[in-house]
Amino acid sequence: MASPALLMRVVASAYSVAEKAAKIVRNVMSAGDLGIVEKTGANDLQTKADRLVQMSICASLARKFPKVTIIGEELVIWVDPLDGTKEYTEGLLDHVTVLIGIAYGGKAIAGVINQPYYNYEAGADAVLGRTIWGVLGLGAFGFQLTEAPAGKHIIVTTRSHSSTLVNDCISALNPDSVIRVGGAGNKIIQLIEGKASAYVFASPGCKKWDTCAPEAILHAVGGKITDIHGNPFQYNKEVKHMNSAGVLATLRNYDYYASRIPNTVKQSLVP
Ligand code: AMP
Ligand code: MG
Ligand code: MG
Repeated sequence: MASPALLMRVVASAYSVAEKAAKIVRNVMSAGDLGIVEKTGANDLQTKADRLVQMSICASLARKFPKVTIIGEELVIWVDPLDGTKEYTEGLLDHVTVLIGIAYGGKAIAGVINQPYYNYEAGADAVLGRTIWGVLGLGAFGFQLTEAPAGKHIIVTTRSHSSTLVNDCISALNPDSVIRVGGAGNKIIQLIEGKASAYVFASPGCKKWDTCAPEAILHAVGGKITDIHGNPFQYNKEVKHMNSAGVLATLRNYDYYASRIPNTVKQSLVP
């Protein structure tokens, strides 16, 4: 088991480092020059905020924990400096999160999700931004855990990375409604705040740094996240970064959704 003292030091650092990151995210936006570059294409963007936050988080954690990503050989920190970059560039600011996930023995055990623009439409008096954090076996904090409406099947999925397969899979689940928003962090927030009952993404594209922090927080409150086949994600340092077989996550009733994923969809997504 990871040393609880070390784990809590890392979580505390991740919390403050994520708040510093959120300031950078807001500052780059207010300065007006996003410095957008395409990584693998128009749907895979990087901004100045991604770059500055990545450097800031890594430098801070490296200073505090000299082995940066790997501490004590088995503690691995997965960082997404800015999740929902596409939405950030389009002004959908509350879709954006900063994700710091901590894994031990290949399992996501703690996470911090900072939402730099939480409350941004609530008026000038509202406090902008929030930090949600959680530790497996301890719980998750910084938000109000809320159940989705009983008996309703509300699916949250990608806004900017749809495909026929993504949409076919959702249709097969026969949802009452579909919410399309950016960011893996943001979609987990939709689950734990009762806005959606399942996060369904039948596509490659999402990476381990997108799911590690969200997974730890979701699992800390009794939810479940896997690929579309039901396989758990692994977070050891050697693991493939891409979640090739998509994402399926719920706070409750995981089996209901898992049992309804069509075989044709599963066959199209190789883990
Ligand atoms: P989304 O739900 O589209 O916001 O995706 C969640 C995370 O996975 C974001 O960090 C996206 O950048 C990433 N992602 C999902 N699909 C793709 C894709 N087709 N290409 C690049 N990144 C993707
Ligand atoms: Mg991301
Ligand atoms: Mg990112």
